[in-house]
Amino acid sequence: MARMTGATWRPIPINHTPNGQREVRGVVVHIMAGTLAGTDSWFRNPAAQASSHFGTGKAGQLYQWVDTSDRAWAQANGNSAWLSVENEGRGGDTLTSAQLDANAKVLAWAHKTYGVPLQVTHTVNGRGLGYHAMGGASWGGHTSCPGSRIVAQLDDIVTRAKKIVSGGGSPSGGSTSSTYTVKAGDTLSGIGAKTGVKWQTIASLNGIESPYVIKVGQVLKLKASSTSKPAAKPVVSVAHLNAARAKDIPAPTGHTTYKAEVLVLENALVAEGLLARKYADGSFGTLTQDAYDAFRRKVGYRGSAATGSVGLESLKKLAARHGFTAKA
Ligand SMILES: [Zn+2]
Repeated sequence: MARMTGATWRPIPINHTPNGQREVRGVVVHIMAGTLAGTDSWFRNPAAQASSHFGTGKAGQLYQWVDTSDRAWAQANGNSAWLSVENEGRGGDTLTSAQLDANAKVLAWAHKTYGVPLQVTHTVNGRGLGYHAMGGASWGGHTSCPGSRIVAQLDDIVTRAKKIVSGGGSPSGGSTSSTYTVKAGDTLSGIGAKTGVKWQTIASLNGIESPYVIKVGQVLKLKASSTSKPAAKPVVSVAHLNAARAKDIPAPTGHTTYKAEVLVLENALVAEGLLARKYADGSFGTLTQDAYDAFRRKVGYRGSAATGSVGLESLKKLAARHGFTAKA
């Protein structure tokens, strides 16, 4: 099960295939030829026989309609291997800057969750950010979806996604500084609009309460100090994992050795869709072993290389996809 943090979850009960997503090669961009609200309603109509995982509105709204473990019905033969984003607008439109950001968020999330590379692809055998027309007849022959003007914007989406992944903050080029000095004529809401930080957030960070008086020259914090330095990545040791594996598997269920590190591993396997959330318990049992073996097969290991004790090389691959550090 995978739902994107930051997208509004608006599940549709029909018009998709539960557990039908075979793999995720990338994200496919579409144009709705309609509005976000209209599409939201159409996907709930049995006559539609259509859906997509995500949808954007011109103002940057981002909906998730279909869990990414499930297959959305957006691009015919391309459905089982690609995630889909429908975008509000008509043929010939370009995407708004807010829509480019919303698409970039989806791509960045797919990168972190499924290892989708941050690049544009023009072929169904590629990986990365694609578009409906690239699939040709086998993808339904939608040669004008999303249109050449939007295809020309895909590089921009990749650039914005890279910025999100590298922790570059607001992808719309909002304030990168952590403080703002009040000038004559400023209001909190005006500063909010200028800096891209919600005025309510600025008020609470600075302890300003109704009637929200600010003074010229006052230095306002725009970020909580704890978020201004990057969080340290957890470190997971192969030796510790293998010690846990040796002790926990033969022991009664729930036995834990190096619980914190095993949990980091298990949470990554949950995010990969290989382990049920309820088994992420810090105990290196047989289900953890099975899920890790499945991850190794997913990234290309075969035979004896895809089973047994945890290796540093495969753990580094998992670490790179889930924000932890693997060491011997
Ligand atoms: Zn399309």
